[in-house]
Amino acid sequence: MNHCLNPRPIIAEFSGRALRHNAQRAMAQLPLGGQMLAVIKADAYGHGLIEVAQCLATHVHGFAILELAAARRLREQGFKQPILMLEGFFDPSELPALSQLGLSTVIHRDDQIDALAQASLDQPLDVFLKLNTGMNRLGFPLSKAISAFERLRALPQVRSVTVMTHFADADNARGTAWQLKRLDDAWPAIATQRLSFANSAALLSGPAKRELLGDITRPGIMLYGASPWGAGDSAKTAGALDLQPVMTLKSQIIGVQQLAAGERVGYGGSFVAERPMTVGVVACGYADGYPRHAGNQAPILVNGIRTQVIGRVSMDMLCCDLSAIPEASIGTPVTLWGRGLPADEVAEAAGTIAYELFCALTARVPRVWID
Ligand SMILES: *Cc1c(COP(=O)(O)O)cnc(C)c1O
Repeated sequence: MNHCLNPRPIIAEFSGRALRHNAQRAMAQLPLGGQMLAVIKADAYGHGLIEVAQCLATHVHGFAILELAAARRLREQGFKQPILMLEGFFDPSELPALSQLGLSTVIHRDDQIDALAQASLDQPLDVFLKLNTGMNRLGFPLSKAISAFERLRALPQVRSVTVMTHFADADNARGTAWQLKRLDDAWPAIATQRLSFANSAALLSGPAKRELLGDITRPGIMLYGASPWGAGDSAKTAGALDLQPVMTLKSQIIGVQQLAAGERVGYGGSFVAERPMTVGVVACGYADGYPRHAGNQAPILVNGIRTQVIGRVSMDMLCCDLSAIPEASIGTPVTLWGRGLPADEVAEAAGTIAYELFCALTARVPRVWID
């Protein structure tokens, strides 16, 4: 970080070592002969597209993404791996680019097959036929699965067809079996196709069988070191799952206030001091991507010691309780989440998930890769 250009002490540190560790962890969960597309949509869940792709390039079989401009950037930077477009194409005019860039595409609607049939392409596409097995988001209804598959397979514009579905409940008690049963019932010979099913939660749940996970898995959040189960289940926290945080959001104490009993903190005075106490002011607010709903809720580390966010989170600052950390003063390091404080715990305190915290990190936060 250039200190003259960025004197404000907030910084997001990224660990390539942790990212590679998590990727190896994911690879170890694959069925025999299984493959893995690292999901790097949304600027690699806020971690930085190119940096993450560089770090993972030799560890994964390919990437999954959904922004065409980002896929183009990957090709321009020399990445030759398979890249799957998770929402497919939005307009037929994108098809020549998909073909030229050698991108694989999801097909989830009939009109996309029509568009493919009419396109003249440099090279045929690998397509992923997305079936709706109960998520009820994207995908063909199961009653149309086989006919859509046969149509695609007959097209000269199509090189291969992988059958894909997405799990709605891989991270909760309903699990994935009910969706797989629907698929089996609708398509008895499904096992003879190339399959793509698992997200992080399914991959971590195992067992490592292709009937359950597919041949081509699509983990996202676990690569970044958060748990699909969040912080609630002690057996499935990121730490318990042997996942390491990739992003650590850090800042410093930039102000200290001594409060008398009855004094309030921040906008609206939502925190009231019950006794005399010391309050630390941290250079981090919701304009940096820190969740506003974490006010009066979230844990925070000051000098490595866990304490509490107090009062409302404001745009550029938040406050924390320094009562039990007498050594804290101006410049004392603070960790908002990451090493030593799982993002899942902060997310839970804010009523959200680590996915959202990562994606919400804003452009004004300087970023550095530390290893
Ligand atoms: C985002 C996404 C994934 C990755 O999910 P995680 O829970 O982050 O592992 C997998 N498949 C599809 C279709 C997605 O959109």
